[in-house]
Amino acid sequence: MNLEKLLRNNIKALKPYSSARDEFSGEAEVFLDANENPYNAPYNRYPDPLQWRLKTKIAEIKQVPPEKIFLGNGSDEPIDIVFRSFCEPGVDNIVSIDPTYGMYQVAADINNVEVRKVKLDKNYNFKAQDLLNAANLYTKAIFICSPNNPTGNLLDRGEIEKLLSGFDGIVVLDEAYIDFAPESSFLPQLDQYPNLIILQTFSKAWGMAGIRLGMAFAQPEIIHIFNKIKYPYNINILTQQKALELLEKAPEKAEWVNIILTERLKLIETLPKFPFVQKVYPSDANFILVKMHDARGIYEYLTENRIIVRDRSKVTLCEDSLRITVGSPEENERLLDALNELI
Ligand SMILES: *Cc1c(COP(=O)(O)O)cnc(C)c1O
Repeated sequence: MNLEKLLRNNIKALKPYSSARDEFSGEAEVFLDANENPYNAPYNRYPDPLQWRLKTKIAEIKQVPPEKIFLGNGSDEPIDIVFRSFCEPGVDNIVSIDPTYGMYQVAADINNVEVRKVKLDKNYNFKAQDLLNAANLYTKAIFICSPNNPTGNLLDRGEIEKLLSGFDGIVVLDEAYIDFAPESSFLPQLDQYPNLIILQTFSKAWGMAGIRLGMAFAQPEIIHIFNKIKYPYNINILTQQKALELLEKAPEKAEWVNIILTERLKLIETLPKFPFVQKVYPSDANFILVKMHDARGIYEYLTENRIIVRDRSKVTLCEDSLRITVGSPEENERLLDALNELI
């Protein structure tokens, strides 16, 4: 992979905004450099633009050095930054699987970048060669998601590896649900693939969707580009502090994941007993895709009972399917009770 060739010219030439915090980062006592208010500490100070303390902590947890970590306002931010780094609007394109996470398409549309979609097979899996065939000279990145949303399954590891070694552009691998999966992350293989960008998030297994914190892992050259493009203070003080505090909850997080996996199994075993359920797809994530007779009707019935699931029945290969998040034992019981009323 030739990073220089992949980057947009304006990004290659970009001289990033240099903040007061960037220019001076040593020990000091009097800060008169950033036009901050001296009162209302600690909220008066701009946050660390590169979040070093938080990255050091994440580095320990993920066993990846801080220079290979980018933190964003959710995973949405690095998704958008991939487009802004590599894809010339109206010229370049990306390749992705179908169905998958809707944000890739939205970010592409906002950046005026074409998405070349390759339909998954009946088992919701893909062949690397099909994605490579969909690419042309203007394809800067391939987006895949494993475990995939909304289908719930891990993608074939061998095919992902073929894609990584067969494509000379960027491969974005979204691992938002990896903590719920029986296979491990690609993180230990990060150094084998200079074109790999792994996305993870604190929104799912860590239970921090509200503080908006997502991660991208890649080689330092790519992280450096992302840092040039992002808003200087993209992660605010509250999020940085709260994340540091909540990262101490690793044991609780492991417990939550265990409960959710037990509950997932319970739902997978119980749902097929309802006569209107046609198929419960296997899941490696914290949600289940369920094919039903009259999915829309059941969606509306549940809504009337103040239980909200996701209607995916208009999505490619998800006809008549609802995506159900695995909740707490009590929440899942409410769901099953409501469905029981229907028979
Ligand atoms: C939920 C989800 C994310 C997380 O997004 P955040 O912006 O970090 O909350 C990322 N990718 C996929 C596929 C998801 O389903």
